[in-house]
Amino acid sequence: MTHKIIIIGSGPAGLTAAIYTGRAGINPLVIAGFQAGGQLMLTSVIENYPGFVEGIEGPELMKVMRAQAERYGAKIYDDDVTSVDFSVRPFKVTTFSETYEAEAIIIATGSSARWLNLESEQKLVGRGVSTCATCDGYFFKDREVVVVGGGDSALEESLYLANITSKVTIIHRRDQLRASKIMQERAINNPKIQFVWDSIVTEVLGENIVEGVQVKNVKTEKVTKFKCDGLFVAIGHDPNTKPFIGQIELDDKGYAIANGTHTNVEGVFVAGDVFDYRYRQAITAAGSGCEAAIDAERWLTRQE
Ligand code: NAP
Repeated sequence: MTHKIIIIGSGPAGLTAAIYTGRAGINPLVIAGFQAGGQLMLTSVIENYPGFVEGIEGPELMKVMRAQAERYGAKIYDDDVTSVDFSVRPFKVTTFSETYEAEAIIIATGSSARWLNLESEQKLVGRGVSTCATCDGYFFKDREVVVVGGGDSALEESLYLANITSKVTIIHRRDQLRASKIMQERAINNPKIQFVWDSIVTEVLGENIVEGVQVKNVKTEKVTKFKCDGLFVAIGHDPNTKPFIGQIELDDKGYAIANGTHTNVEGVFVAGDVFDYRYRQAITAAGSGCEAAIDAERWLTRQE
C-alpha cells in the first residue's frame, strides 16, 4: 500500500504536520521514533509556548499534540527509520520492522544533544553522566553536580537541578554566557549555582560512578580536579539526519538544506530543527510543521 504522506518524527514539527495533513484529509502515517515526542519529552515546564498562562510540561504538551493528530486520522508508529530511498517515487521508508511507501514525505526528525566525546564520559553515561536534568536530576537529590555549557540549555538544566541538588557548578569554556539575559539573571542570582569560567572538562573521574571531573583552564592551562556526583552535558545539538545522507541535500553540519520547506528532492519536505538551527523553539518547529504540511498538501494536489 502506498501512503499519501509519511511524516518522520513526532516532535512539535512532526505532530503539527500530522494535525494539518490529517485535517486536509490525507491520513498521514507518522513514524514517531522510539523516543517519540522529541526533545520536549526531556524538558520540564515550557513557559514560552503561547496559550498556556502558567506554562505546560513538555511531555504533557507532546501527549496532547499526539492525541490531537490521532483525532484527525494520523496513524502513529513508535519505530525508528533506519534508511530511506528517495531516488524513485513512491518513496521508500524503512524502519526496524517494515518498509513503507509514500507519495510525499515530511522529515521532522529534529536534533539530538551533543556529548563532550570523552572516553571517560561515555563510560559513565547513566552512571552519573547525563544530558537530561529532567530525566536524571532526581538521582542527585542533595548532592553536588556539574553542568557544562553556557547556552540556555545549560542554564535551564542548572536552574532545574538547583531545586533538587545541594550545589550546581556551571563550567563554561568562555567568560561570557551565550544564554538569554533573563536566564542569565536567574542563574546568577540563584545561591546554589556557581560558575567556573574559561574552563573545559577534560576527563570524567570515577570507575563505576562519577566522582568528579578534571578541569582545564583554557587561559592559564592549569588543570584541577573537581569533586562532584553528577555531570550534565548541555552543549547544544546535532541534527538527526543519518538516514538521509546521500538522499537529500545536507549542509556541512548535517542539517537539511531547504527552500522554504522543499528539499532538493521534489515531494520531500522538511520541518523543524532538522533544518532550522537558528530558532530551535517548540513554537517555531510547530509553525514549520504547519508550513511543510500545507506545502506537501498543495504539492500532492498538483500531482493529481
Ligand atoms: P547553544 O545556544 O548552541 O549553546 C551551547 C553552549 O555550549 C555554548 O555556550 C557553547 O559555548 C557550549 N559548547 C559547545 N560545544 C562545547 C564543547 N565541546 N565543550 C564545551 N562547551 C561547548 O545550545 P543550547 O543551549 O542547547 O540552545 C539551543 C537553542 O535553544 C538556543 O537558540 C536557545 O536559545 C534555545 N533554548 C531556549 C531555552 C529557553 O528559552 N528556555 C531553553 C533551552 C534552549 P560557546 O558559547 O563558547 O559557543
